[in-house]
Amino acid sequence: MSRASQTITIEQRIDELLRIFRLPTAAAELARRVTEEGHEEALPVLLEVFEAEQQDRHDRRVERLRRASKLPPGKTLDTFDDKRLPRPLARKVRELAIGEFLEHAINVLCFGLPGTGKTHVAAAIGHALVQAGRPVLFAPTFKLVQDMLAAKRDLELPRALRKLDTFELLILDDIGYVQQNADEIEVLFTLLAERYERRSTLITSNLVFSQWDRIFKNPMTTAAAIDRLVHHSTILEFDVTSYRTVTPDGDKNESTSKRRGKEVIDAKDK
Ligand code: ADP
Ligand code: MG
Repeated sequence: MSRASQTITIEQRIDELLRIFRLPTAAAELARRVTEEGHEEALPVLLEVFEAEQQDRHDRRVERLRRASKLPPGKTLDTFDDKRLPRPLARKVRELAIGEFLEHAINVLCFGLPGTGKTHVAAAIGHALVQAGRPVLFAPTFKLVQDMLAAKRDLELPRALRKLDTFELLILDDIGYVQQNADEIEVLFTLLAERYERRSTLITSNLVFSQWDRIFKNPMTTAAAIDRLVHHSTILEFDVTSYRTVTPDGDKNESTSKRRGKEVIDAKDK
């Protein structure tokens, strides 16, 4: 926290940290009393201890969030070769990893053929956000839908939805991967409607919107679901060659036309 030492005094930083620890009386009293008693030289030591406490709390929180997130381990930005993505898309991914979009409940929709890196990018964004202390949940869509149906059968659906609401970002991987029955469609739609304009959802899909009637069956429901998702959203199109089909050094010879993928629209507040 070099910011603190440069712009505010040791006393102010101690006060700030003790308030973060919810110790308001200690925050108001400690530095003043220590100084009054003639032990001013102890202040930097106290600050060091409090900074360590703060760091430990952050680390424990991140560890807790990481376990709760169910993010696939290892699928991070560090293990992702973003040179394989068109520049604007790579830039957008890095920007999303900062997490500003969560403040505005903006959705992220990742489209592309199988193997183009959608799941990896989704997970990498999730990991970066968890590292910054933000609650994220990663779930294969079919699995989450099954869990919600089970909750519904146990009359626990409202509780399950409240639990999901605690996550600032919900990553629904592979929406449309399985054929859904009417109950499954209903809980999926309920979930999307619940988060609309309040919480961000990141979706990956091999299906373009025109194929989404395969997910929601009824054209009205399909249109309503797409509407809610797109209203405040960023769309990332993975118009690149499948990573699985490229040999490690075949990469260099890849023609630029194969890499011409682009970010289609930034439909933010359209
Ligand atoms: P999709 O979800 O689009 O089907 P994945 O994200 O599952 O694709 O990617 C397929 C495999 O290739 C995964 O093991 C993933 O980690 C890897 N992969 C894809 N793109 C990259 C990349 N640019 N850099 C490193 N690994 C990648
Ligand atoms: Mg995938």
